[in-house]
Amino acid sequence: MLDCLFCKIISWEIPSVKIREDDDFIAILDVFPNTKWMTLLIPKNHYNSDLFEISDTQFYTKYLLAVQKVAKILKKWLNVNKVAMVMEWMWVDHLHIKLYPLHWVWPQRKAHRAKQEIYFDQYEWYVSTQLGPKANSEDLQKTADEIKNRS
Ligand SMILES: [Zn+2]
Repeated sequence: MLDCLFCKIISWEIPSVKIREDDDFIAILDVFPNTKWMTLLIPKNHYNSDLFEISDTQFYTKYLLAVQKVAKILKKWLNVNKVAMVMEWMWVDHLHIKLYPLHWVWPQRKAHRAKQEIYFDQYEWYVSTQLGPKANSEDLQKTADEIKNRS
């Protein structure tokens, strides 16, 4: 696609720092990382950014296997136990998955839990894994019932 940033990266029109590449995907370090070694896994073919609208199940499998390979590379190279996978696709409309190495020592994970809870009524232009306040069970059930009634 002509004006797509990721297509330009794939065609080398725009330079990037690749950490893995195969016939179908490239893994590059994000140029706007908020976490060290934040990595993007991008299909070489242009797909619009909403994975949930793609009906090709073989592609899903290939993509997730490629994500798994890159996550294992990050875990090994960085000596981290976990890698978070985020698919929010807000900035570039070319399918991509963001991988965030979780730089904490697993046995001490409770010590790294954020002290502040957050909650948003709607998307705030970023995704957080920070916990929010404990929800009321009745409110959760009401929401689940509303979702079931609408679907
Ligand atoms: Zn593209």
